[in-house]
Amino acid sequence: MSKKYDAIIIGSGIIGAAIAFELAQKGYRTLNVDKLPSAGYGSTSGSCAVIRFHYSTPDGVATAREGYYYWINWPEYLEVEDELGLVNYINTGCLVIKTELNQYLKNVMTSLEDLGIDFEELDIEGVQKKFPFLDTRKYFPVKLTDDPGFAEPTGEAVSGAIFIPESGYISDPQLSTHNLQRATEARGGEFKFNAEVVDIRKKDGRVTGVNLKDGTRIDAPIVVNVAGPHSYLINRMAGVEEGMNIKTRALRQEVCHVPPPDDMDYQNEGVMISDGDIGCYSRPETGNHILVGSEDPECDEREWVDPDNYDRNFSKQWTAQVLREAQRIKGLRVPNQMQGVVDLYDVSDDWIPIYDKSDLPGFYMAVGTSGNQYKNAPVAGAMMAELIDKVEAGHDHDGSPVQFFMKYTGRMFNMGFYSRLREINPDSSFSVVG
Ligand SMILES: Cc1cc2nc3c(=O)[nH]c(=O)nc-3n(C[C@H](O)[C@H](O)[C@H](O)COP(=O)(O)OP(=O)(O)OC[C@H]3O[C@@H](n4cnc5c(N)ncnc54)[C@H](O)[C@@H]3O)c2cc1C
Repeated sequence: MSKKYDAIIIGSGIIGAAIAFELAQKGYRTLNVDKLPSAGYGSTSGSCAVIRFHYSTPDGVATAREGYYYWINWPEYLEVEDELGLVNYINTGCLVIKTELNQYLKNVMTSLEDLGIDFEELDIEGVQKKFPFLDTRKYFPVKLTDDPGFAEPTGEAVSGAIFIPESGYISDPQLSTHNLQRATEARGGEFKFNAEVVDIRKKDGRVTGVNLKDGTRIDAPIVVNVAGPHSYLINRMAGVEEGMNIKTRALRQEVCHVPPPDDMDYQNEGVMISDGDIGCYSRPETGNHILVGSEDPECDEREWVDPDNYDRNFSKQWTAQVLREAQRIKGLRVPNQMQGVVDLYDVSDDWIPIYDKSDLPGFYMAVGTSGNQYKNAPVAGAMMAELIDKVEAGHDHDGSPVQFFMKYTGRMFNMGFYSRLREINPDSSFSVVG
């Protein structure tokens, strides 16, 4: 390819597209390459696109809060028309159940207060009054469906909850990626689909470009790995995995789409629930459905897989998740037909992403998004663009981490939090909650 690019971004998922947009805004000539036929067809397409704030670390909460403002200001942020339309943010509010696992949300409430995010602390009567369709009994510890005592309460009531009114989801995660693609193109960025990267080229100790499966060679002094569940394979191609203290791998996940209990208008009356007591999260889904995902309880075996060769059929995990959710939502039934999503998370060792440079000059990564970074994609894009800009200008990010100004919340954020060199963060939930 004779064209000159400043940066090649491997991957056109929500985060790859967000990085391209932010780099293009800074004047970089970007090219996203993706082996799939369109933007957002990878794990982004399977995302539940939940927008919520209750991360286990203050930095996690701060990033999610900043990210939220990009979504509610989406048209102003992108300043572009998309022939397919722009996505909407749909507010549902989020009920988070207090459990031993989340330390009864003590740290989360402190972080929410610190950021001025409204929330209501609810006792059992409060939960029942607000959401009368919920069974508030305690079921913890989460069990397998064939374990003795499955679906039998272990206590009269859970330990209460918090309700965060500002939480919701994005109508269509794939379309949101297309929106970013159009916004990037409007600023001169390019996208190349059906283009699989098979090699990362280097010269004199610096990245120089990528080779595609069809033999095409593309040159650029900057290459960014945003390959989602394939991220570890790209890092291996670049030879940078050894220089990372935190690594990534692909984890198989199932999400269930089920009808609500009879006569219930869940789309309007329902609520997003993060429920460690039953090991599930759920949210209303467009079309009056309920979407149920796993909060990765200890009893479930984690299925680490080869991202190019895994079982895309539903398994007994699907039924387990619906039965668990049926402990909480009164009258919920297991439908005859299994519907939903089987897809992959790109999980880091501590379920916190890596937004960083690498030991190979010019090679960067936004990986390990651990099932919880869709909501943060725009702010991750902005952080990565700033980091790349500063490091290319000679900044020693490993020695003195880049401080990123969060424009909506007006805070400085230490990007060392997302470093590949960090120690495993002991405050993480080590689950999709982050
Ligand atoms: C089932 C599920 C539910 C989720 N729910 C939520 C949620 O509710 N809220 C939330 O915040 N997050 C959620 N997430 C996480 C979120 O969706 C991801 O963090 C996010 O979509 C990752 O975006 P990405 O751009 O990094 O990766 P991807 O969307 O996976 O994009 C990576 C791209 O890289 C391409 N690629 C890979 N290898 C190569 C190669 N060799 N050459 C060229 N291209 C390549 C792929 O084709 C792919 O398109 C969920 C994820 C899943 C799977």
